[in-house]
Amino acid sequence: MSSLFADASLRLEKALQYVTISEDASERLKYPKASLSVSIPVRMDDGSLKIFQGYRVRYDDTRGPGKGGVRYHPSVCLDEVQSLAFWMTFKCALLNLPFGGAKGGITVNPKLLSKAELERLSRGYIEAIADFIGPDVDILAPDVYTNEMIMGWMMDQYSIIRRRISPGVVTGKPLTMGGSQGRDTATATGAFYVINSVLPQFNQKPETTTVAVQGFGNAGVEIAHLLAKSGYKVVAVSDSQGGIYSPHGLDISSIREYKRKHLSIKGVYCHNTVCNIVEHENITNEQLLTLDVDVLIPAALEKQITVENASGVRAKFIFEVANGPITSEADKILEAKGIHVFPDILINAGGVTVSYLEWVQNRNGLYWTLKEVQEKLKEKMIEEAEAVWKIHQELGVSFRTCAYIHGLNRLNMAMSAKGTRDYYMS
Ligand code: NAD
Repeated sequence: MSSLFADASLRLEKALQYVTISEDASERLKYPKASLSVSIPVRMDDGSLKIFQGYRVRYDDTRGPGKGGVRYHPSVCLDEVQSLAFWMTFKCALLNLPFGGAKGGITVNPKLLSKAELERLSRGYIEAIADFIGPDVDILAPDVYTNEMIMGWMMDQYSIIRRRISPGVVTGKPLTMGGSQGRDTATATGAFYVINSVLPQFNQKPETTTVAVQGFGNAGVEIAHLLAKSGYKVVAVSDSQGGIYSPHGLDISSIREYKRKHLSIKGVYCHNTVCNIVEHENITNEQLLTLDVDVLIPAALEKQITVENASGVRAKFIFEVANGPITSEADKILEAKGIHVFPDILINAGGVTVSYLEWVQNRNGLYWTLKEVQEKLKEKMIEEAEAVWKIHQELGVSFRTCAYIHGLNRLNMAMSAKGTRDYYMS
Protein backbone atom coordinates (compact mmCIF):
# COMPACT_ATOMS: atom_id res chain seq x y z
CA MET A 1 0.00 0.00 0.00
CA SER A 2 1.31 3.46 -0.89
CA SER A 3 2.27 5.87 1.87
CA LEU A 4 -0.24 8.39 3.16
CA PHE A 5 1.92 11.18 1.78
CA ALA A 6 2.16 9.60 -1.68
CA ASP A 7 -1.62 9.31 -1.67
CA ALA A 8 -2.07 12.91 -0.47
CA SER A 9 0.25 14.15 -3.24
CA LEU A 10 -2.07 12.66 -5.88
CA ARG A 11 -4.64 15.31 -4.97
CA LEU A 12 -2.08 18.00 -5.72
CA GLU A 13 -1.18 16.39 -9.05
CA LYS A 14 -4.82 16.38 -10.05
CA ALA A 15 -5.34 20.05 -9.15
CA LEU A 16 -2.15 21.03 -11.00
CA GLN A 17 -3.84 20.03 -14.25
CA TYR A 18 -6.22 22.98 -13.86
CA VAL A 19 -3.86 25.68 -12.63
CA THR A 20 -1.28 27.67 -14.52
CA ILE A 21 1.56 27.59 -12.11
CA SER A 22 5.28 28.03 -12.51
CA GLU A 23 7.31 24.84 -12.72
CA ASP A 24 9.42 26.08 -9.82
CA ALA A 25 6.38 26.49 -7.58
CA SER A 26 4.89 23.11 -8.44
CA GLU A 27 8.26 21.44 -7.88
CA ARG A 28 8.71 23.08 -4.47
CA LEU A 29 5.22 22.06 -3.34
CA LYS A 30 6.09 18.40 -3.79
CA TYR A 31 8.52 18.39 -0.86
CA PRO A 32 8.34 19.46 2.79
CA LYS A 33 10.56 22.42 3.62
CA ALA A 34 11.90 20.92 6.85
CA SER A 35 11.31 17.85 9.00
CA LEU A 36 12.54 17.29 12.52
CA SER A 37 12.59 13.96 14.38
CA VAL A 38 13.37 14.02 18.07
CA SER A 39 13.77 11.59 20.94
CA ILE A 40 12.04 12.75 24.11
CA PRO A 41 13.29 11.24 27.37
CA VAL A 42 10.55 11.11 30.01
CA ARG A 43 10.95 10.12 33.66
CA MET A 44 8.02 7.81 34.35
CA ASP A 45 6.19 7.71 37.69
CA ASP A 46 7.89 4.42 38.60
CA GLY A 47 11.32 6.06 38.25
CA SER A 48 12.21 4.45 34.92
CA LEU A 49 13.24 6.46 31.86
CA LYS A 50 11.27 6.04 28.66
CA ILE A 51 12.16 7.52 25.28
CA PHE A 52 9.35 8.71 23.00
CA GLN A 53 9.65 9.60 19.34
CA GLY A 54 8.40 13.05 18.30
CA TYR A 55 8.14 14.94 15.00
CA ARG A 56 7.55 18.41 13.64
CA VAL A 57 7.28 19.07 9.92
CA ARG A 58 7.10 22.50 8.32
CA TYR A 59 5.79 21.79 4.87
CA ASP A 60 5.77 25.28 3.41
CA ASP A 61 6.01 28.78 4.85
CA THR A 62 5.79 30.96 1.76
CA ARG A 63 2.55 32.57 2.97
CA GLY A 64 3.55 32.94 6.62
CA PRO A 65 4.75 31.03 9.67
CA GLY A 66 4.00 27.32 9.76
CA LYS A 67 0.74 26.41 11.49
CA GLY A 68 -0.52 23.03 12.58
CA GLY A 69 -1.60 20.79 15.42
CA VAL A 70 0.23 18.23 17.48
CA ARG A 71 -1.13 14.67 17.58
CA TYR A 72 -0.55 12.06 20.30
CA HIS A 73 -1.31 8.61 18.94
CA PRO A 74 0.41 5.21 18.75
CA SER A 75 0.36 5.31 14.94
CA VAL A 76 2.06 8.72 14.60
CA CYS A 77 5.02 8.50 12.19
CA LEU A 78 6.90 10.88 9.90
CA ASP A 79 4.78 9.91 6.89
CA GLU A 80 1.57 10.83 8.73
CA VAL A 81 2.92 14.09 10.18
CA GLN A 82 4.24 15.12 6.76
CA SER A 83 0.84 14.43 5.17
CA LEU A 84 -0.95 16.43 7.84
CA ALA A 85 1.51 19.32 7.31
CA PHE A 86 0.86 19.12 3.56
CA TRP A 87 -2.90 19.39 4.13
CA MET A 88 -2.36 22.34 6.48
CA THR A 89 -0.47 24.18 3.73
CA PHE A 90 -3.42 23.99 1.37
CA LYS A 91 -5.98 24.60 4.11
CA CYS A 92 -4.33 27.86 5.24
CA ALA A 93 -4.01 29.04 1.64
CA LEU A 94 -7.62 28.08 0.89
CA LEU A 95 -8.84 30.12 3.89
CA ASN A 96 -6.45 32.93 2.96
CA LEU A 97 -4.81 32.84 6.40
CA PRO A 98 -1.30 34.32 6.58
CA PHE A 99 0.19 30.95 7.48
CA GLY A 100 2.07 28.10 5.90
CA GLY A 101 1.45 24.48 6.79
CA ALA A 102 3.04 22.45 9.58
CA LYS A 103 2.21 19.58 11.90
CA GLY A 104 3.66 17.68 14.82
CA GLY A 105 3.14 14.49 16.71
CA ILE A 106 4.41 12.01 19.26
CA THR A 107 4.19 8.26 18.90
CA VAL A 108 2.44 7.41 22.15
CA ASN A 109 -0.74 5.93 23.53
CA PRO A 110 -1.55 8.85 25.86
CA LYS A 111 -4.27 6.87 27.60
CA LEU A 112 -1.54 4.79 29.24
CA LEU A 113 0.21 7.80 30.83
CA SER A 114 -0.58 9.48 34.13
CA LYS A 115 -1.33 13.19 34.03
CA ALA A 116 2.14 13.98 35.42
CA GLU A 117 3.81 11.77 32.78
CA LEU A 118 1.76 13.45 30.08
CA GLU A 119 2.89 16.86 31.31
CA ARG A 120 6.56 15.80 31.35
CA LEU A 121 6.19 14.38 27.83
CA SER A 122 4.53 17.58 26.53
CA ARG A 123 7.16 19.83 28.11
CA GLY A 124 9.91 17.50 26.87
CA TYR A 125 8.56 17.73 23.33
CA ILE A 126 8.77 21.54 23.45
CA GLU A 127 12.28 21.34 24.90
CA ALA A 128 13.27 19.17 21.92
CA ILE A 129 11.68 21.31 19.19
CA ALA A 130 12.01 24.82 20.73
CA ASP A 131 14.50 26.04 18.11
CA PHE A 132 12.23 24.87 15.31
CA ILE A 133 9.07 26.74 16.42
CA GLY A 134 8.02 30.24 17.52
CA PRO A 135 5.19 32.78 17.15
CA ASP A 136 6.72 34.02 13.86
CA VAL A 137 8.13 30.70 12.72
CA ASP A 138 5.82 27.79 13.41
CA ILE A 139 2.76 27.75 15.68
CA LEU A 140 1.31 24.69 17.41
CA ALA A 141 -2.33 23.71 18.12
CA PRO A 142 -4.37 20.72 19.36
CA ASP A 143 -5.16 17.66 17.26
CA VAL A 144 -6.11 14.06 18.03
CA TYR A 145 -5.66 13.29 21.77
CA THR A 146 -4.21 16.69 22.61
CA ASN A 147 -6.30 19.39 24.25
CA GLU A 148 -6.18 22.86 25.77
CA MET A 149 -4.49 21.69 28.96
CA ILE A 150 -1.63 20.23 26.91
CA MET A 151 -1.45 23.42 24.81
CA GLY A 152 -1.16 25.39 28.06
CA TRP A 153 1.80 23.28 29.22
CA MET A 154 3.46 23.69 25.82
CA MET A 155 3.05 27.47 25.78
CA ASP A 156 4.35 27.67 29.35
CA GLN A 157 7.39 25.53 28.55
CA TYR A 158 8.25 27.59 25.49
CA SER A 159 7.93 30.78 27.58
CA ILE A 160 10.29 29.33 30.20
CA ILE A 161 12.86 28.48 27.51
CA ARG A 162 12.63 31.94 25.88
CA ARG A 163 12.39 33.78 29.26
CA ARG A 164 9.37 35.75 28.05
CA ILE A 165 5.65 35.08 27.94
CA SER A 166 5.03 33.85 24.41
CA PRO A 167 1.32 33.11 24.00
CA GLY A 168 1.51 33.29 20.20
CA VAL A 169 3.55 30.09 19.87
CA VAL A 170 0.57 27.85 20.59
CA THR A 171 -3.15 28.21 19.89
CA GLY A 172 -5.99 26.29 21.49
CA LYS A 173 -4.72 27.33 24.95
CA PRO A 174 -6.94 27.73 28.01
CA LEU A 175 -8.72 31.10 28.08
CA THR A 176 -6.77 32.03 31.21
CA MET A 177 -3.49 31.69 29.28
CA GLY A 178 -4.50 33.78 26.27
CA GLY A 179 -6.79 31.34 24.51
CA SER A 180 -9.62 32.53 22.30
CA GLN A 181 -13.32 32.30 22.88
CA GLY A 182 -14.75 29.68 20.57
CA ARG A 183 -11.51 27.81 19.78
CA ASP A 184 -12.68 24.63 21.53
CA THR A 185 -15.69 24.30 19.22
CA ALA A 186 -14.22 26.06 16.17
CA THR A 187 -13.60 23.03 13.96
CA ALA A 188 -17.16 21.82 14.29
CA THR A 189 -18.67 25.30 14.13
CA GLY A 190 -16.82 26.07 10.90
CA ALA A 191 -17.92 22.74 9.44
CA PHE A 192 -21.47 23.43 10.50
CA TYR A 193 -21.57 26.80 8.72
CA VAL A 194 -20.51 25.15 5.46
CA ILE A 195 -22.73 22.06 5.78
CA ASN A 196 -25.73 24.19 6.61
CA SER A 197 -25.15 26.43 3.61
CA VAL A 198 -24.34 23.64 1.16
CA LEU A 199 -27.20 21.21 1.83
CA PRO A 200 -29.98 23.67 0.89
CA GLN A 201 -28.33 23.96 -2.55
CA PHE A 202 -29.29 20.30 -3.00
CA ASN A 203 -32.80 20.88 -1.56
CA GLN A 204 -31.82 18.88 1.51
CA LYS A 205 -33.76 20.08 4.58
CA PRO A 206 -32.56 19.48 8.16
CA GLU A 207 -35.68 17.64 9.36
CA THR A 208 -35.48 15.08 6.55
CA THR A 209 -31.71 14.66 6.67
CA THR A 210 -30.16 11.72 8.51
CA VAL A 211 -26.56 11.95 9.67
CA ALA A 212 -23.91 9.50 10.89
CA VAL A 213 -20.77 10.78 12.64
CA GLN A 214 -17.65 8.65 13.04
CA GLY A 215 -15.44 9.82 15.94
CA PHE A 216 -16.87 11.38 19.09
CA GLY A 217 -13.95 13.57 20.15
CA ASN A 218 -13.49 17.34 20.08
CA ALA A 219 -14.66 17.74 16.49
CA GLY A 220 -17.17 14.85 16.28
CA VAL A 221 -19.12 15.61 19.45
CA GLU A 222 -19.61 19.24 18.55
CA ILE A 223 -20.62 18.72 14.93
CA ALA A 224 -23.16 16.08 16.02
CA HIS A 225 -24.44 18.49 18.65
CA LEU A 226 -24.73 21.50 16.32
CA LEU A 227 -26.52 19.48 13.64
CA ALA A 228 -28.93 17.88 16.12
CA LYS A 229 -29.66 21.30 17.64
CA SER A 230 -30.57 22.59 14.17
CA GLY A 231 -33.05 19.81 13.53
CA TYR A 232 -30.92 17.28 11.61
CA LYS A 233 -31.53 13.69 12.63
CA VAL A 234 -28.23 12.29 13.91
CA VAL A 235 -28.84 8.54 13.84
CA ALA A 236 -25.36 7.14 14.53
CA VAL A 237 -22.18 8.13 16.35
CA SER A 238 -19.06 6.19 17.27
CA ASP A 239 -15.77 6.41 19.08
CA SER A 240 -12.72 4.17 19.07
CA GLN A 241 -14.64 1.51 21.07
CA GLY A 242 -17.54 1.22 18.62
CA GLY A 243 -20.77 2.96 17.74
CA ILE A 244 -24.47 3.30 18.40
CA TYR A 245 -27.31 3.57 15.94
CA SER A 246 -30.96 4.48 16.32
CA PRO A 247 -33.05 5.07 13.19
CA HIS A 248 -35.28 7.46 15.18
CA GLY A 249 -32.34 9.73 15.97
CA LEU A 250 -30.09 9.88 19.02
CA ASP A 251 -30.34 12.30 21.91
CA ILE A 252 -26.99 13.92 21.20
CA SER A 253 -27.17 16.40 24.09
CA SER A 254 -27.31 13.66 26.69
CA ILE A 255 -24.67 11.53 24.96
CA ARG A 256 -22.44 14.61 24.87
CA GLU A 257 -23.11 15.30 28.54
CA TYR A 258 -22.37 11.70 29.46
CA LYS A 259 -19.11 11.76 27.58
CA ARG A 260 -18.16 14.99 29.35
CA LYS A 261 -19.03 13.79 32.83
CA HIS A 262 -17.17 10.54 32.48
CA LEU A 263 -13.89 12.09 31.49
CA SER A 264 -11.68 10.30 33.92
CA ILE A 265 -8.10 11.09 34.67
CA LYS A 266 -5.55 8.61 34.10
CA GLY A 267 -4.44 11.09 31.56
CA VAL A 268 -7.34 13.29 30.53
CA TYR A 269 -9.19 10.85 28.37
CA CYS A 270 -12.57 9.30 28.41
CA HIS A 271 -12.38 5.65 29.32
CA ASN A 272 -16.06 5.18 28.81
CA THR A 273 -17.67 4.76 25.48
CA VAL A 274 -20.97 6.07 24.20
CA CYS A 275 -22.22 2.51 23.89
CA ASN A 276 -24.46 2.02 26.92
CA ILE A 277 -26.63 5.03 27.50
CA VAL A 278 -29.50 5.19 25.00
CA GLU A 279 -31.83 2.80 23.29
CA HIS A 280 -29.85 1.81 20.32
CA GLU A 281 -28.29 -0.87 18.24
CA ASN A 282 -24.56 -1.38 18.73
CA ILE A 283 -22.63 -1.04 15.50
CA THR A 284 -18.99 -1.16 14.53
CA ASN A 285 -17.14 1.76 12.99
CA GLU A 286 -17.09 -0.18 9.74
CA GLN A 287 -20.89 -0.55 9.79
CA LEU A 288 -21.35 3.13 10.54
CA LEU A 289 -19.57 4.08 7.33
CA THR A 290 -21.97 2.10 5.18
CA LEU A 291 -25.26 3.07 6.88
CA ASP A 292 -28.13 4.20 4.70
CA VAL A 293 -27.98 7.89 5.69
CA ASP A 294 -28.02 11.18 3.81
CA VAL A 295 -24.89 12.61 5.37
CA LEU A 296 -21.76 10.84 6.54
CA ILE A 297 -19.24 12.73 8.64
CA PRO A 298 -15.90 11.03 9.28
CA ALA A 299 -14.43 12.88 12.31
CA ALA A 300 -11.80 10.43 13.58
CA LEU A 301 -8.67 9.40 11.71
CA GLU A 302 -7.36 9.14 8.15
CA LYS A 303 -7.86 6.24 5.70
CA GLN A 304 -11.30 5.20 6.94
CA ILE A 305 -12.91 4.96 3.50
CA THR A 306 -10.72 2.96 1.15
CA VAL A 307 -11.11 0.74 -1.92
CA GLU A 308 -12.17 -1.99 0.49
CA ASN A 309 -15.37 -0.31 1.67
CA ALA A 310 -16.06 2.68 -0.62
CA SER A 311 -18.49 0.78 -2.82
CA GLY A 312 -20.59 0.03 0.28
CA VAL A 313 -21.00 3.70 1.23
CA ARG A 314 -24.63 4.73 0.84
CA ALA A 315 -24.58 8.36 2.02
CA LYS A 316 -25.37 11.08 -0.53
CA PHE A 317 -22.97 13.58 1.02
CA ILE A 318 -19.70 13.19 2.89
CA PHE A 319 -18.27 16.07 4.86
CA GLU A 320 -14.69 15.36 5.92
CA VAL A 321 -14.28 16.76 9.41
CA ALA A 322 -11.29 14.45 9.94
CA ASN A 323 -8.11 14.97 7.95
CA GLY A 324 -7.61 12.50 5.13
CA PRO A 325 -10.41 10.02 5.92
CA ILE A 326 -10.80 9.02 2.25
CA THR A 327 -8.01 7.59 0.10
CA SER A 328 -7.60 8.84 -3.47
CA GLU A 329 -8.63 5.45 -4.90
CA ALA A 330 -11.79 5.53 -2.79
CA ASP A 331 -12.47 9.06 -4.06
CA LYS A 332 -12.85 7.66 -7.58
CA ILE A 333 -15.36 5.05 -6.43
CA LEU A 334 -17.41 7.59 -4.48
CA GLU A 335 -17.38 9.99 -7.42
CA ALA A 336 -18.58 7.26 -9.76
CA LYS A 337 -21.43 6.58 -7.35
CA GLY A 338 -22.44 10.26 -7.49
CA ILE A 339 -21.63 10.91 -3.84
CA HIS A 340 -20.73 14.54 -3.12
CA VAL A 341 -17.55 14.71 -1.06
CA PHE A 342 -16.68 18.00 0.65
CA PRO A 343 -12.99 17.89 1.48
CA ASP A 344 -11.14 18.18 4.78
CA ILE A 345 -9.10 21.23 3.77
CA LEU A 346 -12.34 23.20 3.58
CA ILE A 347 -14.67 21.47 6.03
CA ASN A 348 -12.39 21.31 9.08
CA ALA A 349 -10.69 24.66 8.46
CA GLY A 350 -12.70 26.35 11.23
CA GLY A 351 -10.12 25.10 13.74
CA VAL A 352 -7.17 26.83 12.12
CA THR A 353 -9.27 29.90 11.34
CA VAL A 354 -10.01 30.50 15.02
CA SER A 355 -6.40 29.58 15.80
CA TYR A 356 -5.46 32.45 13.53
CA LEU A 357 -7.87 34.72 15.42
CA GLU A 358 -6.30 33.56 18.70
CA TRP A 359 -2.82 34.38 17.38
CA VAL A 360 -3.99 37.83 16.25
CA GLN A 361 -5.51 38.48 19.70
CA ASN A 362 -2.27 37.36 21.39
CA ARG A 363 -0.27 39.78 19.28
CA ASN A 364 -2.64 42.68 19.92
CA GLY A 365 -3.44 41.99 23.54
CA LEU A 366 -7.07 42.77 22.73
CA TYR A 367 -9.60 39.99 23.13
CA TRP A 368 -12.88 39.42 21.26
CA THR A 369 -16.19 38.07 22.53
CA LEU A 370 -17.51 34.68 21.41
CA LYS A 371 -20.01 36.46 19.17
CA GLU A 372 -17.26 38.48 17.49
CA VAL A 373 -15.10 35.39 16.95
CA GLN A 374 -18.00 33.39 15.52
CA GLU A 375 -19.00 36.21 13.16
CA LYS A 376 -15.46 36.38 11.80
CA LEU A 377 -15.32 32.59 11.49
CA LYS A 378 -18.63 32.42 9.66
CA GLU A 379 -17.67 35.15 7.23
CA LYS A 380 -14.41 33.38 6.31
CA MET A 381 -15.88 29.90 6.01
CA ILE A 382 -18.80 31.00 3.86
CA GLU A 383 -16.69 33.24 1.65
CA GLU A 384 -14.17 30.50 0.84
CA ALA A 385 -16.83 27.78 0.51
CA GLU A 386 -18.58 29.98 -2.05
CA ALA A 387 -15.33 30.45 -3.94
CA VAL A 388 -14.86 26.65 -4.08
CA TRP A 389 -18.47 26.24 -5.19
CA LYS A 390 -17.91 28.76 -8.00
CA ILE A 391 -14.84 26.87 -9.26
CA HIS A 392 -16.92 23.69 -9.15
CA GLN A 393 -19.59 25.30 -11.32
CA GLU A 394 -16.99 26.56 -13.77
CA LEU A 395 -14.92 23.39 -14.10
CA GLY A 396 -17.35 20.64 -13.12
CA VAL A 397 -14.66 18.73 -11.22
CA SER A 398 -14.90 17.40 -7.66
CA PHE A 399 -15.16 19.78 -4.72
CA ARG A 400 -11.85 18.36 -3.49
CA THR A 401 -10.01 19.28 -6.66
CA CYS A 402 -11.68 22.73 -6.64
CA ALA A 403 -10.54 23.32 -3.05
CA TYR A 404 -6.96 22.44 -4.03
CA ILE A 405 -7.14 24.68 -7.09
CA HIS A 406 -8.26 27.59 -4.92
CA GLY A 407 -5.44 27.06 -2.41
CA LEU A 408 -2.91 26.40 -5.13
CA ASN A 409 -3.67 29.68 -6.87
CA ARG A 410 -2.91 31.58 -3.67
CA LEU A 411 0.27 29.62 -3.02
CA ASN A 412 1.40 30.24 -6.57
CA MET A 413 0.83 33.99 -6.21
CA ALA A 414 2.86 34.11 -3.00
CA MET A 415 5.67 32.03 -4.49
CA SER A 416 5.80 34.18 -7.60
CA ALA A 417 5.88 37.34 -5.50
CA LYS A 418 8.83 36.04 -3.52
CA GLY A 419 10.69 34.88 -6.61
CA THR A 420 12.79 31.77 -6.78
CA ARG A 421 15.42 32.98 -4.31
CA ASP A 422 18.01 31.72 -6.76
CA TYR A 423 20.65 33.85 -5.07
CA TYR A 424 21.13 31.00 -2.61
CA MET A 425 22.43 28.90 -5.44
CA SER A 426 24.55 31.45 -7.30
P1 NAD B 1 -10.05 13.84 19.51
O1 NAD B 1 -8.86 13.20 20.07
O2 NAD B 1 -10.76 14.87 20.32
O3 NAD B 1 -11.13 12.74 19.09
C1 NAD B 1 -10.84 11.66 18.27
C2 NAD B 1 -12.06 10.74 18.32
O4 NAD B 1 -11.90 9.70 17.37
C3 NAD B 1 -12.29 10.08 19.67
O5 NAD B 1 -13.67 10.05 19.96
C4 NAD B 1 -11.81 8.65 19.44
O6 NAD B 1 -12.45 7.72 20.30
C5 NAD B 1 -12.21 8.47 18.00
N1 NAD B 1 -11.50 7.42 17.32
C6 NAD B 1 -10.19 7.09 17.38
N2 NAD B 1 -9.95 6.04 16.58
C7 NAD B 1 -11.12 5.73 15.99
C8 NAD B 1 -11.54 4.75 15.06
N3 NAD B 1 -10.66 3.88 14.57
N4 NAD B 1 -12.82 4.76 14.68
C9 NAD B 1 -13.71 5.64 15.17
N5 NAD B 1 -13.38 6.57 16.06
C10 NAD B 1 -12.11 6.61 16.46
O7 NAD B 1 -9.60 14.44 18.11
P2 NAD B 1 -10.23 15.64 17.29
O8 NAD B 1 -9.48 16.86 17.66
O9 NAD B 1 -11.70 15.61 17.39
O10 NAD B 1 -9.76 15.26 15.82
C11 NAD B 1 -10.54 14.38 15.00
C12 NAD B 1 -10.17 14.63 13.54
O11 NAD B 1 -10.43 16.00 13.24
C13 NAD B 1 -8.70 14.39 13.20
O12 NAD B 1 -8.60 13.90 11.89
C14 NAD B 1 -8.11 15.77 13.28
O13 NAD B 1 -6.93 15.89 12.53
C15 NAD B 1 -9.25 16.59 12.71
N6 NAD B 1 -9.17 17.99 13.04
C16 NAD B 1 -9.19 18.42 14.34
C17 NAD B 1 -9.10 19.78 14.60
C18 NAD B 1 -9.14 20.32 16.00
O14 NAD B 1 -9.13 21.54 16.14
N7 NAD B 1 -9.23 19.51 17.03
C19 NAD B 1 -8.98 20.70 13.56
C20 NAD B 1 -8.99 20.23 12.24
C21 NAD B 1 -9.07 18.88 12.01
